[in-house]
Amino acid sequence: MIAPSSPQSIEASRCSSCAKFIAPTRTRCPYCAGPMQPVHVDGRGKIISWTTVHVTPEGIPSPRTVALVGLECGASVLCIVDDARTLEMDMHVEVVFADGLHRLG
Ligand SMILES: [Zn+2]
Repeated sequence: MIAPSSPQSIEASRCSSCAKFIAPTRTRCPYCAGPMQPVHVDGRGKIISWTTVHVTPEGIPSPRTVALVGLECGASVLCIVDDARTLEMDMHVEVVFADGLHRLG
């Protein structure tokens, strides 16, 4: 965990019972159903996988690439990718939260 004012921090939750992290935030742990506490975690991580969506909801431009990023705290977060041409497996990236969405920074 890091200070909330850090520019690369994102909101997450940490389980009070098993200590696992989840992002975005939740009130109950998906692993043990324990209560979760809001925390800020480092947005740095590695690309786990990505895909391009060609059929999107109305108002969402397509095609749209989304990437699954494994954060250093152990949580995984789905991110919008603005430029997918440079993606590589295990590539070090930084996740930011902007305009209501997680994005690659
Ligand atoms: Zn738990």
